[in-house]
Amino acid sequence: MARSNCPGAMADVCVIGGGPAGATCARVLAALGLDTLLLYRLDRPQPVADILPPEAAAAVDKLGLRRLLEKDERCAAPCTGLWSNLNAASAPTFRSFRSRPEDRNGWIVDRARLDGALRDLAAASGADCRIGRLRRAVRERSGVWHVTGDDGGSVWIARARFLVDASGRPGALARHHGARHVCLDKRVAVAAYWPPAPERHRDDGVAVIERAARGWWYAARLPDGALHVAHHVAAQERARPPAARGCWTHEKPGPMVEARQQRHANGRAPERVVCRAAGMARNEPMAGRDWVAVGDAAAAFDPVSGQGLANALVSGAIAARAIADHFAGRIAALPAFAEAMAATHRHAAMHTHDLYCSLQ
Ligand SMILES: Cc1cc2nc3c(=O)[nH]c(=O)nc-3n(C[C@H](O)[C@H](O)[C@H](O)COP(=O)(O)OP(=O)(O)OC[C@H]3O[C@@H](n4cnc5c(N)ncnc54)[C@H](O)[C@@H]3O)c2cc1C
Repeated sequence: MARSNCPGAMADVCVIGGGPAGATCARVLAALGLDTLLLYRLDRPQPVADILPPEAAAAVDKLGLRRLLEKDERCAAPCTGLWSNLNAASAPTFRSFRSRPEDRNGWIVDRARLDGALRDLAAASGADCRIGRLRRAVRERSGVWHVTGDDGGSVWIARARFLVDASGRPGALARHHGARHVCLDKRVAVAAYWPPAPERHRDDGVAVIERAARGWWYAARLPDGALHVAHHVAAQERARPPAARGCWTHEKPGPMVEARQQRHANGRAPERVVCRAAGMARNEPMAGRDWVAVGDAAAAFDPVSGQGLANALVSGAIAARAIADHFAGRIAALPAFAEAMAATHRHAAMHTHDLYCSLQ
């Protein structure tokens, strides 16, 4: 019987959220010999596609994920370069990820498949992975966490010595336990998806980032051939009316993105449009005496930095080692993890700010 069905049974660590940060953290915790419960929900819209840039290759290798990204065609496709005009006032420039033979490409990942594969790896390491939404977590007088969740049909209870908040931007646990949400800029992404088209094109592995009168546009094709287009703007711009009748956002895309959209969709409306928070934000503090936040729940990056997914994977793994050190009595391990995360985030925030200034 699974632990969470056994009244009184206790895990060393309960990880809340089964995205890249939570699944990686649970996998490493279990591999380090800690009794780990991973709680994840599938009842909310999940991220659809992310680009993992070539700079993430070292982390991918260290986490043993290269085989997954290169052998599972439905999970990831190579991303060989980027057309962009964000850094130049006029002509778009092409950054090839493979200009030298030793260069490595990046990847366009299908997030549902990647997250599922990462949870499978966590389960294979020995983590108990369970579908469920955290309802609340209360610290008992004994110092043990009392975690209540539900899986849509039934409510269950688990106990754990330590909690990991890997719930993404909501920071479901950190904020409930006093962390302050620091939002550095209120930006959103209005993202549209078109179903897979059978025709392949030589540009399929190339992403586009294009400046606009307000914000910027992004387009990429997913491993299964679906098209993903997003308009990134300041949150207050959402109130503006659509640019034209039948248009899914209030601004027309730039020529590069429009050409992609036209070629794929040929005038058809998107299958789905969603709006997601997409600015730089973090929770402070990122760790307490018996909990820690990882991935976006600790520090969320503007997608223009291309750092979010790699940070989620790496922070999940580093936090797991810090937790093991904490259990072994090294009290500086969690504060050191939180300080390193905050420093990385401050650095990225400066670069992102400079980039947006240059766009104005
Ligand atoms: C529009 C957009 C485009 C992006 N593009 C890129 C990109 O191209 N490249 C890149 O590197 N990054 C990109 N990012 C950032 C990247 O998607 C995130 O950094 C990454 O998903 C963070 O992973 P995570 O595991 O921390 O959180 P998430 O992926 O958000 O996972 C959190 C999980 O926790 C679950 N959860 C939440 N609350 C609860 C609860 N109460 N109980 C149980 N489970 C819960 C959620 O359902 C989810 O499964 C983009 C972000 C946005 C918004």
